[in-house]
Amino acid sequence: MAKKKYKGDGIYFLGQSSIDVTGSQYLVKFGNRQILLECGLHQSSSNDYLDSYKVNSAKFKFNPKEINYVFICHAHIDHTGILPRLVKEGFNGKIIATRNTSKIMKSLLMNCAYIVQDEARVLSKRYHREYKPLFDECDVLKTMTMVYEYDDYDTIIKLDDEVSFQWLKNAHCIGSAQLQLILQNNTKTKKILYTSDIGALHTKNHYVPDTEIPEMFSDITLMESTYGSDKRLSNKTREFDLDHLQAAVNTIIERKGSVILPCFSFSRTQELLTNLYLIYADNPSFRTPVVVDSKLSCEISDIYSDILSGTDYNLWEKVLSWENVMFISEKEISQNNLADNTPKIILSSSGFCTNGRIVNYLKKYLQDEKSMIIFSGYVGDNPSYLSYRIKNYSNRSTISINKEQIPNKADCITLSTFSSHANHNDLIKYGSSLNTNKLVLVHGSEESKKCLSDKLKMAISKNDKTYKVVCANKDMVIHI
Ligand SMILES: [Zn+2]
Ligand SMILES: [Zn+2]
Repeated sequence: MAKKKYKGDGIYFLGQSSIDVTGSQYLVKFGNRQILLECGLHQSSSNDYLDSYKVNSAKFKFNPKEINYVFICHAHIDHTGILPRLVKEGFNGKIIATRNTSKIMKSLLMNCAYIVQDEARVLSKRYHREYKPLFDECDVLKTMTMVYEYDDYDTIIKLDDEVSFQWLKNAHCIGSAQLQLILQNNTKTKKILYTSDIGALHTKNHYVPDTEIPEMFSDITLMESTYGSDKRLSNKTREFDLDHLQAAVNTIIERKGSVILPCFSFSRTQELLTNLYLIYADNPSFRTPVVVDSKLSCEISDIYSDILSGTDYNLWEKVLSWENVMFISEKEISQNNLADNTPKIILSSSGFCTNGRIVNYLKKYLQDEKSMIIFSGYVGDNPSYLSYRIKNYSNRSTISINKEQIPNKADCITLSTFSSHANHNDLIKYGSSLNTNKLVLVHGSEESKKCLSDKLKMAISKNDKTYKVVCANKDMVIHI
C-alpha cells in the first residue's frame, strides 16, 4: 500500500478476503484508535504451500503494537489464523470474541500451529532454505490470554470513550456473530456493520440461531459474498438432501459396503452426526457403527458438550450417547479401525481431503465398489483438492492420491445444501434490506461480487432504498 494512502480515518482492505474467500483482515482507523476486524490465515488452493506462506508471512501493513482491538466474529482459521503471529510481533491490545468463539478458536488455533510448523518443515526441505513457522503452540496460548469474551447479543457494549460495539445473531457456526462497530469522538460518530461470514436467514443447521438482518443504521456495511454468483444456485432443499443421504446409506448397508463422509471437524461433523442420529436412532435394526475419526473432531465435539445449553445441549447429549457412535482420537485406534473391514459409516476430516485421516480412508474405500463417498457442501474449485478430483472425475478409472493411482470404483454423491454460508437468495434478501449508506462486498471471488452487486442494485431500488454497492479491492481504502 502506498504510504500516502495509509493515512486518516478509514477502513483499509488489507487481507486476501478483499479479493478472495480467505484471509479476512480489515483495519479501521478512527482518531487515536486502530482496530482490526479479524486477522485470518490465507489458505491458497494451490498444492504448493509457498503461495500461502508468502502471503501469511508478509510484513503487516501496520504496527501490531499500535492496534487497540481485534474483533473476531467467528472461529474459522481464515478469520483467526494470523492472530498468534500478530501477538508474536508485539500486539498488546484486546481480542474481542464471544465465549463460544473463544473456546472453539483455541482448539482450531492449536491445530493450526501444528499445521503451520509442519508446512514450514516441508518448505524448508523442498527449497533447501529455512522457512520459519508462522507461530507455534506457545504463541497460541499467549494469544488466548488476550481474549476478552462478551456474550450478549443485540446489546451495545462500551470498550472505551471512542469504541463501542454490538454483536448480532448469525447462523454461520456456533459462536459466530455479526458486528456493529460504533466509533465516536468530539467531531463525529461512525457506525460500521461487518457481517463476517453469514449463515442462512432460516437455517436448517442445528445449534445455531437464524441470521438476523440488522434494522439499525450503519454508515458502511461490509458483507460477505461467497455465494454471490448465481452459478452455484441450487434448487435442492435440506429435506431432499436428507432423503438422499438416507437412501444412499440404506443402499450401501444392504450391499455391505461402507459410507465415507469427508467433513470439517468444526460444525459439519457435528451436523452430519446429528442428522444420522435423527434418521436412525429410533430404528432398532440399524446396527451399523458410526465412527468419528479425527482428533480435532473429537475435541470440538467435547467443546459442544461444554458450551451448548437447553434443548441444544439435550439433543447433542442424546447424539453422544447413541450406542452406534464411536469417537476415535488416538492414532493407533484409528489405524486399527482403518484395517478393520466391518461395514461402517465414517466421518473424518479434512473436508477438502487435502490432509488428515480421511486420506487413508479414501485410499482404501475408493477402490471398493460396494462403498460410497458422500461429500457435503463445497469440494473446492480445482483439481489440487482431492475432494474435487473424486467428485468431478467419476468417469476416470483411477484417481491420484499422494501420487499413487488408486482404482476409482466407489460411488460418490454430494449433498449440496450443507453449507454454513448464506445462499445466493439469502444474500440478495439480506443485502437489499439494510439501513446503510454504502454496502461493500468482500469475501468472494471477482465473479461472485460482480454478479451479486448487479443483482443487489436492482433489489435495493425495488425496495425503495438508495445506498451504493461497491466491490472491494485489495488495498482499497474507504475514508470515514
Ligand atoms: Zn467461516
Ligand atoms: Zn470465511
